[in-house]
Amino acid sequence: MKFSQTFIPTLREVPADAVIASHRLMFRSGMIRKLANGLFAYLPLGLRSFRKLEQIIREEMNAIGSLEIKPPVVVPAELWQESGRWDAYGDALLRVKNRLGADFVVSPTAEEAFTSLVRDELSSYRQLPLSLYQINTKYRDEIRPRYGVMRGREFVMKDAYSFHTGDASLDEHYQAMGRAYRRIFNRCGLSVISVQADSGAMGGSGSEEFMVESEIGDNTLIFCKNCDYAANVEKAGCKPDFSPRMDALARSAAAGTPPLSKIDTPEVRTIEELCAFLKTGAETFIKTLIYRAVNVELDLSAAPGCSGLKKERPAPGAPEVYPEVFFAAAIRGDLDVNETKLAAVLKASEVNLAADSDVERLTGAPVGFAGPVGLSRIPVLIDHSVTAMNDAFTGALEKDRHYQHAAYGRDFGAWLIADIRTVRAGDRCPLCGGELYEKKGNELGHIFKLGLKYSKPMKLSYLDEKGESHTPLMGCYGIGVDRVLASIIEEHHDDNGIIWPMTTAPYQVVVIPIKYEGAVKDAADTLCAELEKEGVEVLLDDRNERPGVKFNDADLMGIPLRAVIGEKNLSGGSPRVEIKARAAKENRLVELARAALDLAGQVRQELEILNGASS
Ligand code: ATP
Ligand code: MG
Repeated sequence: MKFSQTFIPTLREVPADAVIASHRLMFRSGMIRKLANGLFAYLPLGLRSFRKLEQIIREEMNAIGSLEIKPPVVVPAELWQESGRWDAYGDALLRVKNRLGADFVVSPTAEEAFTSLVRDELSSYRQLPLSLYQINTKYRDEIRPRYGVMRGREFVMKDAYSFHTGDASLDEHYQAMGRAYRRIFNRCGLSVISVQADSGAMGGSGSEEFMVESEIGDNTLIFCKNCDYAANVEKAGCKPDFSPRMDALARSAAAGTPPLSKIDTPEVRTIEELCAFLKTGAETFIKTLIYRAVNVELDLSAAPGCSGLKKERPAPGAPEVYPEVFFAAAIRGDLDVNETKLAAVLKASEVNLAADSDVERLTGAPVGFAGPVGLSRIPVLIDHSVTAMNDAFTGALEKDRHYQHAAYGRDFGAWLIADIRTVRAGDRCPLCGGELYEKKGNELGHIFKLGLKYSKPMKLSYLDEKGESHTPLMGCYGIGVDRVLASIIEEHHDDNGIIWPMTTAPYQVVVIPIKYEGAVKDAADTLCAELEKEGVEVLLDDRNERPGVKFNDADLMGIPLRAVIGEKNLSGGSPRVEIKARAAKENRLVELARAALDLAGQVRQELEILNGASS
């Protein structure tokens, strides 16, 4: 392909909103242009890399027996109503009406569409397991699209959905997907870490995210210094830890603790204000937060204050849940409640801090004075950390009053004890007790055992050998194509531009004639023709530009191999070409006659290394 005949608008300047390398470089190299906030166009150069990445993903999906289909992106609202997500998905869901006033969604993900398609065809266990995927447009009305195609509103995702008769079959496919994902990332030259992830409220039984380490990552990842424990902070657990002070207190336990008594704390509500007022540290407080949980699946028949609550079925076939329940969650004052973990413990679809008026109604005091002592109208859930507290301050359920000397077990109990804290660096590994540390990560892919989450409410069924009807188990598996592409650039670039791994490079070789005329032109044309005969993808920079401009653009575009043809090296007995790898500092002079084979050999070798690394 001749540069003059394609459309690669390279730029020197950087758009103001491009704060990360991949965004800057995709823009400057002419891979993408922005149409509107979160909406990008891939230009010819960008699309070449994009298609290669799609193909890598496609090959690995096909290799594990997943079958590609192409469903529509616009899906009738009824399917989303059946699953319950029409209401639950929130504002990221783009809802549209057609000319008849019927509601549709522009798919942000496609569990409903795939489940519906399979529902219409599934009758017998003989059709299972079944795994289907698409590589298709998604739309999420992200509040803050940023970092270029890393977080766009419209993007392309490979999403696969699998259907199974039992756990073993689901697990087998889930594991195969995990291996396929690792091969995909290896083939792209990406260093990816897999971490345990939250598997949501209902039915989910396993979930793994594939992350790249990144300073701009939206995820906090927790790792153990001692073993290979790795988890998203949303999910990460920890061993209950007792700070030295807590240990000391635990030893003296309730025996040495003075009796519970109330103290005046006028106008002090926050932990910081209390610390200042009482001249003590946050770890001596029991912080108590009131939460409103939605669609709680946990059995609350024996929970305080819940005897009158009725369970309901949000959708036919869905599990019975309590639509709204209030809870108190108590935790040591220097720690934070992890709401994702709390929701998982309660088997709730969502938990939020209760409104001030609800807090007053349930605790009998304004916000800031809640505590576990004497709180009887709602179930009290306490974090492990509180069980070690034998002499604590806590709210007295009265305006401007706190308790001192509160001891767990003596002055208050719990309806449920669970690990609900946000883990942080320095906490102890739940597996081995080793020290945990944090890194920031960006999610590239996610695999998920859904269980019955969609198949049950959407009434999927098949008949087994005996003619009995069952609901299949499901899994879902996503990779963001745009985000993976940007992440490859994040990992492979320098100050001058992109350094593509051979597998996703838009072209494999760029041929740069110093001046595209005369003998230099003939040599360049011949070399390109030979390279193409070898199956090499080559860009010929035939522009009438200064050599410096062409070199800079070649570096910017990140084409892995460069061949420069100039008059000086052509003259004399054996004409030569300057060959340089994008990542290398030095050139090599290679005989023109051998140049095509030399370059083709390097292309093949690099492809083999990357693709081979996958096996
Ligand atoms: P995030 O937490 O980053 O918003 P998610 O957990 O909502 O992502 P999933 O629903 O698991 O994302 O989607 C699967 C994959 O789709 C993600 O791993 C990511 O690679 C990609 N993806 C999700 N949202 C976007 C987006 N706005 N722009 C580009 N890619 C995205
Ligand atoms: Mg995810």
